[in-house]
Amino acid sequence: MPPSVKVATAAIGVCLALAVVRGAVTSIEAGAGAAGILNAGVGVALGGLIMVGLFKRHRLAWQWGRLVGVLLVLEMAVLWATGAVPSRSIGDVALRGFNAGALLLAVIALSFPSAKRFFRLVCPQCGKISGKAADFFFTRATCKACRLTF
Ligand SMILES: [Zn+2]
Repeated sequence: MPPSVKVATAAIGVCLALAVVRGAVTSIEAGAGAAGILNAGVGVALGGLIMVGLFKRHRLAWQWGRLVGVLLVLEMAVLWATGAVPSRSIGDVALRGFNAGALLLAVIALSFPSAKRFFRLVCPQCGKISGKAADFFFTRATCKACRLTF
């Protein structure tokens, strides 16, 4: 596993651990309803699946790690900019900032050529790197340059 993928996996792992702790604390504090607990559970399950996939070199995990990372950072930015989530304390703001930074780090790390090589996204015919899926579960990729499916 190249350092870029290790960094991405570690960053996602830290975010996941924080989400679990934070979700537990918030649920106990505010008596979050079933919807809140379900929401947190789905997030943790998705993050866990992505981490397992990264370890197992699944291209789908590489794709979703980048996609979910970007979406979460955008969501945090929008919520922050619009003031939709009133920050209760400095610690809360710091935690959100740390999470956004870690996710951004994971997205950048997964975009490194070494990470793309690790997830077998280099075309065996022309050597170009391609992140284009050829099927729904991304078990096969399509080269953008020579259209080879591998
Ligand atoms: Zn090619």
